[in-house]
Amino acid sequence: MVVNSFKRGIHLPTRKRATEGKPIEQVPYPKQVVIPVNQHFGAPNRSLVSVGEKVVRGQKIAEGVTPGPMTVPVHASISGTVAKIEPRTQSNNTEGLCVVIEAEGPQDREEFFPPLDPFSCTTEDALTRIREAGIIGMGGAGFPAHVKLAPPPGKHIDLIIANGAECEPYLTIDEAAMTAKSQLLIQGLAIVMKITGVNRAVIGVEENKKSIVPLIERELRLEKFAGDISIGLCRTRYPQGGEKMLITALTGREVPSGGLPMDAGCIVQNVGTLIAIAEAFYRGKPLIDRDLTVSGGACTTPKNIRAPIGACIKDMPVEFMDIDHARLVKILFGGPMMGTAVASLETPIQKNTSGIILMTREETIAEEEGPCIRCGRCIRNCSCSLSPVIMNNSLEAGDLDYAVKAGLLDCIECGGCTYMCPARIKLVQRFRVGKQRLRLRQQQAAQTAAVKK
Ligand code: SF4
Ligand code: SF4
Repeated sequence: MVVNSFKRGIHLPTRKRATEGKPIEQVPYPKQVVIPVNQHFGAPNRSLVSVGEKVVRGQKIAEGVTPGPMTVPVHASISGTVAKIEPRTQSNNTEGLCVVIEAEGPQDREEFFPPLDPFSCTTEDALTRIREAGIIGMGGAGFPAHVKLAPPPGKHIDLIIANGAECEPYLTIDEAAMTAKSQLLIQGLAIVMKITGVNRAVIGVEENKKSIVPLIERELRLEKFAGDISIGLCRTRYPQGGEKMLITALTGREVPSGGLPMDAGCIVQNVGTLIAIAEAFYRGKPLIDRDLTVSGGACTTPKNIRAPIGACIKDMPVEFMDIDHARLVKILFGGPMMGTAVASLETPIQKNTSGIILMTREETIAEEEGPCIRCGRCIRNCSCSLSPVIMNNSLEAGDLDYAVKAGLLDCIECGGCTYMCPARIKLVQRFRVGKQRLRLRQQQAAQTAAVKK
C-alpha cells in the first residue's frame, strides 16, 4: 500500500501507548451535566428550557436565536430536571451560558428522532436531519456539519475524505471508534456521498494505525452502499490530521492561501462526525454523547471513554477514573499541540472534546522564553510553509497588518513552530492572540460603519 504525506511537518513522540488498542468504555451516568448552549462555530443559540423543567435524554434544549444555517441545536444528554441556567467556564476558557441538568429517574428514557432512510429522502431533508441532530465537526473546530456538506454553487467537489489521521500525541479515540464502529463509519461516508453527489471517498489514516486497515476493508466488502471508498495510508507526521495536510497527502492538491478544502475539490469530515451522522439517520440519535481519550501521566486509569456531553471528570467515580492529584499540574482539553489548558476538572466535556490529558510536571515544557537566535527552525518545519519568526516579530512590534501579510491567517495553529523553537518562544500562542485582535478590529470596523450609515 502506498504511504502518502505532505512536505515539512515534524515527528513527535506519539505517547499513545497507554490507551492504544483499548475499547471505548461507557462512563457511568453522572448525577449532573453542564451543557453549554453554544458549542458550534456560528450564530448564537438560546436556551429553550427553564429552571425546574423536566427534560428527557435527546430532547432539544437550545437552538438559534434567529433561524439560519449557521446555528446547530443542543440536546439534553441525560434525563432529569433543569437545576440552573447560568454562565459557566467552558473548555475554551470563555464564560458561556450553560444548562445544568440533575439526573432523575431511569436513563433509558430517550427522545430521539424516527429513523430516516438517507437513500430515499431528499437532500434537503437529509441536511435538515444532520442539523437538527446537532452535529458539528468533532475534530476540533465545531463547524456545523450540514454547512460543510452544502458547498456553494460553482464549487466542484470530487472527493470526500474521512479524517482518521489522529496525529496529536496521546489521543487514540478515532482509532478506537474506527475499530468499534467501522460499519457506522462507512455508512456515514456513504450518506455524505449521497448528499453531495460525490462518488469517491477515501479514509485517511496514519501509518501507525495500519492494523485497522483489514478491519475496514472487511467492512467495505460487506457494506452494500460502500461504492468507491478506499483507504489512504499517510506517514505518521504532525500535523497530518490538519485538513490541508491530509488533502495534499492523499491527492497531491494544495488548498490555496485563504481557501477552504472545497477550493481543492474536497470535503473533509472527522471519522467521529461521520459516525454521528450515521447514528442520526439509522437510530434517530442526536449528538448527545462524546467518545474521547482520557490519558496523561497523572491519570492512573487511562482509557477511551464514551461520556454524555456536559459530564466532567470530577464527577466520575474513582473506580472508573482515578486521578493522581498530587502529580497533576496541567489539564488539557484536546491534544498537547492544539488543545486548551483549563483550570479545573469540573470543565464540561463538549461536542468537540476529543481528549482530556492530565499532565505531570515531567510531561510539560515550562522553560523560560529566550531571545530568538535566528536559527530558522520554525520556518523549515512550518507545515503551511509560513515564516513564524516574521509573523511573531510583526506582532511584537504591534504591526498586525504585516503579520497578516506574512501569513497569519493561513496559520492552522498546529503549534509545530513552538515545539521546534530552541528559544522556547510561545509563537503559536501569539498567533492565536493576534487572530483574536484581528477579529476584534474587524468587529469594531463593522460597528463603526453601521453607526455612520
Ligand atoms: S506558523 Fe502556524 S501553521 Fe506554521 S508551524 Fe506555527 S502554528 Fe503551525
Ligand atoms: S525557531 Fe525560534 S529561535 Fe529559531 S528563528 Fe524561529 S523563533 Fe527564532
